[in-house]
Amino acid sequence: MTGTIGSTVLGYPRIGPRRELKRALESCWAGRSSEVELRETARNLRIDTWRRLRDAGLDSVPGNTFSYYDQVLDTAVTFGAVPKRYAELGLGSLGTYFAMARGADAVPPLEMTKWFDTNYHYLVPEIGPGTTFSLADRTPVEQYREALEAGVTTRPVLVGPLTFLLLAKSTAGESFRPLDKLPELLGAYAELLRELHRAGVEWVQLDEPAFAADRTPDQLQALGDAYRQLGGLSARPKLLVAGYFGDFTEALRVLAGTPVEALGADLVTDPSTVDSLSGVPGLRDKTLVAGLVDGRNIWRTDLDRALTTAATLLGLAGEVAVSTSCSLLHVPYDVEVEDIDPQVKSWLAFAEQKVHEVVVLGRALRDGRDAVTDELSAAREAVADRAGATRVRNNRVRARLESLRPEHSQRGDYQERRAAQQKSLQLPPLPTTTIGSFPQTTDVRKARAAFQSGRIDRASYQQRMRDEIKRVIELQESIGLDVLVHGEPERNDMVQYFAEHLDGFISTANGWVQSYGSRCVRPPILYGDVHRPEPMTVEWATYAQKLTAKPVKGMLTGPVTILAWSFVRDDQPLADTAAQVAMAIRDEVQDLEAAGIRVIQVDEPALRELLPLRAAQRAAYLEWAVSAFRLATSGVSDSTQIHTHLCYSEFGDVIDAIVALDADVTSIEAARSRMEVLDDLNAVGFGRGVGPGVYDIHSPRVPDAAEVTDLLRAALRAVPADRLWVNPDCGLKTRGYAEVEPALENLVSAAEAVRRDL
Ligand code: GLN
Ligand code: ZN
Repeated sequence: MTGTIGSTVLGYPRIGPRRELKRALESCWAGRSSEVELRETARNLRIDTWRRLRDAGLDSVPGNTFSYYDQVLDTAVTFGAVPKRYAELGLGSLGTYFAMARGADAVPPLEMTKWFDTNYHYLVPEIGPGTTFSLADRTPVEQYREALEAGVTTRPVLVGPLTFLLLAKSTAGESFRPLDKLPELLGAYAELLRELHRAGVEWVQLDEPAFAADRTPDQLQALGDAYRQLGGLSARPKLLVAGYFGDFTEALRVLAGTPVEALGADLVTDPSTVDSLSGVPGLRDKTLVAGLVDGRNIWRTDLDRALTTAATLLGLAGEVAVSTSCSLLHVPYDVEVEDIDPQVKSWLAFAEQKVHEVVVLGRALRDGRDAVTDELSAAREAVADRAGATRVRNNRVRARLESLRPEHSQRGDYQERRAAQQKSLQLPPLPTTTIGSFPQTTDVRKARAAFQSGRIDRASYQQRMRDEIKRVIELQESIGLDVLVHGEPERNDMVQYFAEHLDGFISTANGWVQSYGSRCVRPPILYGDVHRPEPMTVEWATYAQKLTAKPVKGMLTGPVTILAWSFVRDDQPLADTAAQVAMAIRDEVQDLEAAGIRVIQVDEPALRELLPLRAAQRAAYLEWAVSAFRLATSGVSDSTQIHTHLCYSEFGDVIDAIVALDADVTSIEAARSRMEVLDDLNAVGFGRGVGPGVYDIHSPRVPDAAEVTDLLRAALRAVPADRLWVNPDCGLKTRGYAEVEPALENLVSAAEAVRRDL
């Protein structure tokens, strides 16, 4: 269909159905294969994707959704925003690109951060007063031609100019805002649009998700000005501007007054958007690309409901097209390849299935529901089966939650706890500890793989893990750490391990989703009421505790982090699901205590990750997130010490929530940000134990004792010695023993040196 968008998706996964791109990238980086081979793999993946999307029946196929690493980095390169330190390396185009992504020699990579509230990470562009924009790279044009040659007409997708600048970082501090460069950047976008037009492109999609978050009136004004300017170009493709991850209505009001032809809105993340659309004047002259199929979660769409929504939209917009709420980058490729429980499987839709849903919705809109009766009834059956399934509900879990009282989330007075803990643990001032994991050696990984594939039995797997735990305990004893850990060798991943031990979760074998670059994660699927059939960690922790007189810290993942790194059910409020997970963790905490474990750490590195994009929704989120943590950790006596670990130290909006967690000890990332975070904590009256990381585990560098001593002295200016803990930044899982051993030795001698001066 020319002219209209009809049915489409906003983007598609690119890592490859069998992670072909991951393998090709890593082999090229390791020098095992050539750039030519990498380019060939990439080209095949692109062509495969385009044809697949066309053959599935989409009216409009997105193009330029491929990336060797990240689409924000691609945008920076397209418009020539390559910082000098990379350009100067004199590497080829792909070499420079990878240097920005991963660093090269002595040049560190660009900073990386989370793409809105997803688990995808993008590279942060660096923009300064001296940045000059130009159309430096023509990949979007070339890929349009490449698709055309393969027989597919595509709609190139670009990160929009406002979102690009709003996500960028100023190289000149506060005195300069990247957005000030908008007029120059628009010149380069205009040039690209003209070239795309010359190449025959009919539609271009510009993504502006930054406007699903809170924006100032100035920024909204800039959005309008920008699209009036791009829309005013005399020779250009038609423009679709899309926003997602939240309510995009504010931006739609502005964009409806510009010449852009189509507007994309996410109608899933915040369903109230559907109602606010009636208040967008000018929508009648536009095509509304309705994001009716969830691009971020894996549940089959209720097609009847989506069609009802679409029907209400028909009266509001000039034309309605059907789409996903956002790019499908955030879901795995294909549920059909999974060998999982058939009933749960029938409730799921991965990227491939979602494309099909969009096509069906598009046909229903165009030709009427009768044209797709079979598809609609199949979807109806799956939705009804899921809603009525007994396995989704566990009445015991529900009854337990109903019977909870406020005292279940309240520990005793902190000063009393502290005295009881000191009596039980007898720790020196500035106690030393680690965050949980020790290096996962090839031996450990091999043992797990062998167990999974049945080459070794459970008993020999467990013996290997016990041997590893014994080694790690002996090492910590010899280094002289005060609170020991078992080292987490049995955990493939800090969330998946628990998902595999809890009822209500299912794990996939191939459900990979890109996290950043070649790194993929396989989020578990939380489909039903969560229940812990039996203890998950007690055996390992008590085995470790038997080997030493020092306290061994039990290690658990917190409820918020388990939700953040899973695909979560969408049939009840997140707060309710969090409470169920919290209850399971609470049971584990109590069992650890009963088994003689006196220190228990509940990690919440993702607490800040789920923070809603809109400030107005944050308090409600933090309320249930904090409640879940407290529910998980309040079932123990005063003498049991609760730790938590957060992977960051820029607390910002969550600082009060961190106080409210009421953990006895909080360890945080701080080695890179020095010790300023401690003043922030003091400012809000945080009077608990705190362990600012003094060893940056994100780098292979081994800090010497003098450096750690300095950090500890700096920390002591803000925190008294009886509340200061000494620990690395994060778990040691990704490091090698060659670095970890000397680093921990230095950490212990630094603590001893500082103690001597007290
Ligand atoms: N206990 C976990 C570990 O040490 C914590 C990891 C994390 O914070 N991401 O690996
Ligand atoms: Zn961490």
